[in-house]
Amino acid sequence: MDCLFCKIIEGTIPSKAVYSDDRAYAFSDINPQAPVHFLVVPREHIKSTAEAAEDHAELLGYLLLTGAKIAREKGLAKGYRVVINTGPDGGQTVDHLHVHILGGRHCTWPPG
Ligand code: IMP
Repeated sequence: MDCLFCKIIEGTIPSKAVYSDDRAYAFSDINPQAPVHFLVVPREHIKSTAEAAEDHAELLGYLLLTGAKIAREKGLAKGYRVVINTGPDGGQTVDHLHVHILGGRHCTWPPG
């Protein structure tokens, strides 16, 4: 499958890992939008939240909890932003579901 994040998970494209286990992989975003910006992805290829199935419910929760655990480890005690862009209108550019975690600065709202 020609998927950038699958290749990153396999290790055929290098990345800066921040977490890895049998269900999830997290790595630094190549174009950070905050002092801390990493992506949490499922090892299983799921295109987006729009394509996720009922039996992905636990995995989706696990990705959020994994992001929270890494954020704690990175000292983001004052908070952080969690973003899941979905589909073209949602600004998704890589078709492998990913959770952005952005922290280390004050985030404004609305995000635009
Ligand atoms: P999206 O726009 O929500 O799909 O987010 C895709 C993210 O992947 C963007 O923030 C990109 O900067 C990031 N990205 C694209 N290619 C790479 C890469 O090779 N390594 C790490 N992050 C990447």
